[in-house]
Amino acid sequence: MLSIDSLERGVVIDHIEAGKAMEIYNYLGLDKLECSVAIIKNVKSNRMGKKDIIKIEDEIETDLHMLGFIDTNITVNIIDGGTIIKKMNITLPDKIVNIIKCKNPRCITSVEQELPHVFKLTDPERKVYRCAYCEQQAEH
Ligand SMILES: [Zn+2]
Repeated sequence: MLSIDSLERGVVIDHIEAGKAMEIYNYLGLDKLECSVAIIKNVKSNRMGKKDIIKIEDEIETDLHMLGFIDTNITVNIIDGGTIIKKMNITLPDKIVNIIKCKNPRCITSVEQELPHVFKLTDPERKVYRCAYCEQQAEH
């Protein structure tokens, strides 16, 4: 069982908006990991009131910068030897690949199943992403 307070090595995804942990779990495909993953919901936070935290007891290969697509307030700490060795700054990614799918039924990605699902940030102010193939706006 993964301890909630200590993590020897792995990744801590913190400052997740309360209730969003499962969404992130699904986006990152954490169900496919063999290692322990702990989702801690409704943790008291001075800054946010309540927040969710995800702890992953291993390194993961997923590009965690993708998290910026969901929320740029999320923080990511990489843990090794029981201490934080790296803090990642999460910003709006310019491009997201294979995180969401295009909803346009006429989009080439709904025909050519093996194409990567690529969305590009077209309006950073309004956080609008559009499909790289058909320019359909992303929904999430
Ligand atoms: Zn499309």
